[in-house]
Amino acid sequence: MLEIKNYIGGVFQPALDGETLDDFNPATAQCIATIPRSKAADVELAVVAAQSTQSEWGALSMMERADWLDRIADALEAKHEHIAQTESMDTGKPISLARRVDASRSVSNFRFFAEFSREQPQMTFEMADAMNYVHRSPVGTVGLITPWNLPLYLLSWKVAPALLMGNTIVAKPSEITPLTANILAETLHELELPPGVFNLVHGLGPEVGQSILEAPGIKGISFTGGTATGRIVARTAAPMFKKLSLELGGKNATIVLRDADLTQAVDGAVRAAFSNSGQVCLCGSRILVDASIADNFTKLFIEKVESIQIGNPSLAETVMGSVISPEHLEKVESYIELGLAEGGTVLTGGTRAMTGFKGPDGIGAFLRPTVVADLPHTSRCATEEIFGPMVTLHTFDTEEQAVEMANHSEYGLAGSVWTTDLERGRDLATKIETGIVWVNTWLHRDLRTPFGGVKNSGVGREGGKWSMEFFSEMTNVCVKSGKLSE
Ligand code: NAD
Repeated sequence: MLEIKNYIGGVFQPALDGETLDDFNPATAQCIATIPRSKAADVELAVVAAQSTQSEWGALSMMERADWLDRIADALEAKHEHIAQTESMDTGKPISLARRVDASRSVSNFRFFAEFSREQPQMTFEMADAMNYVHRSPVGTVGLITPWNLPLYLLSWKVAPALLMGNTIVAKPSEITPLTANILAETLHELELPPGVFNLVHGLGPEVGQSILEAPGIKGISFTGGTATGRIVARTAAPMFKKLSLELGGKNATIVLRDADLTQAVDGAVRAAFSNSGQVCLCGSRILVDASIADNFTKLFIEKVESIQIGNPSLAETVMGSVISPEHLEKVESYIELGLAEGGTVLTGGTRAMTGFKGPDGIGAFLRPTVVADLPHTSRCATEEIFGPMVTLHTFDTEEQAVEMANHSEYGLAGSVWTTDLERGRDLATKIETGIVWVNTWLHRDLRTPFGGVKNSGVGREGGKWSMEFFSEMTNVCVKSGKLSE
């Protein structure tokens, strides 16, 4: 069993009061690690360490820091399989997904920001008698708080631009999935990143997370997690005028138009619904289908869902693993019960998966991919974020109705439209109130593009120049040309 430590000022150390929390593999119900249950005093140590090295790190040129990102990417790439195995064990996700998405994307996040920064021109604005130079300074010490669904993927998405722009970091991964953040800390330690530039404090949200929000020495917070927690983050940090980026929950619609290529749409809708057991903020958990093709679509969709190979996450052929925890399994099950109570029909799934796979300490948190039809699009199951392997299926008669249904949500993160008429798809996409809409694809990411939600799905944008902007303070230096007297 692993004994994970905090990483503060270049030193791996337990919580000051020695308390720990257990970390479980949700596919086997086995305790695989202990982590420090840190408190405000541990966060304070980390903030002091980060502040003490801020001026040294911030004084490097962006190109020097980009070289650091490349070194980090190389080192993580060398640990690709170790990261994938660890992420799979910590989250219950299939090893194939952990390799293809989590481990690979963590490397490419560092690589991307290094390369992207080298393409950025010096921003200048010329006047007839003066030149304006836009200068980027670091924000200072920033707090990075991340969720459990894509642990290292989402942490590295923040760490890379934060380091690039010259900030020092106090990071807190989810207490449910702390292991790959520790691999990142070990990697940075091996690379001899100056002590204090990156600090990792483990523990519970209301203890460590809240202390990060409240620490006066932390000047910016980049948070990814649930909308309810996002409210706490905003309430705590906004009165202190900290820079804030909030990437929150979603309830995304997959819209299948009458002229869609059915095979492509079914494949895309299944992938969008059940990737990572439906535990991706971008998952299409409401499927809206043109009524004229609904019977055909539903038949093919259910066939495809029932072919999903669910079971032991370590096997290469497994497509769906467990959900994140027994508690989360019960939450998703409570929505299935609610769906039935609301008048829905379970077309497939609805029960725990009999995978034949059993860990040494019991049966993991496996649920069959579940599709519920016959619910109004205004029902609780169709409007609340479930964040698991359960989707609702609805039909529409007109495109206006599809748009109205898609926008009937407090969330506004993502969506997809399936049609063979690309103009029509693009036009429809602009009417959907979300931060991103894919046409005939899903989770197709260009890291240069803005990423973030509208409505209750978040505030601010990450990605490319938006991440660089968030992690820097832009100041303008205006230099007057000509004689001093003019
Ligand atoms: P969560 O909000 O429960 O936790 C996220 C992080 O916040 C964890 O590290 C947690 O310990 C911490 N936290 C909890 N309470 C806190 C507090 N009072 N102060 C500071 N930090 C606190 O979310 P989760 O259950 O880990 O993740 C699932 C949610 O994340 C879903 O709603 C999902 O949609 C969302 N998510 C959004 C995106 C996005 O990019 N928009 C990406 C992934 C996940």
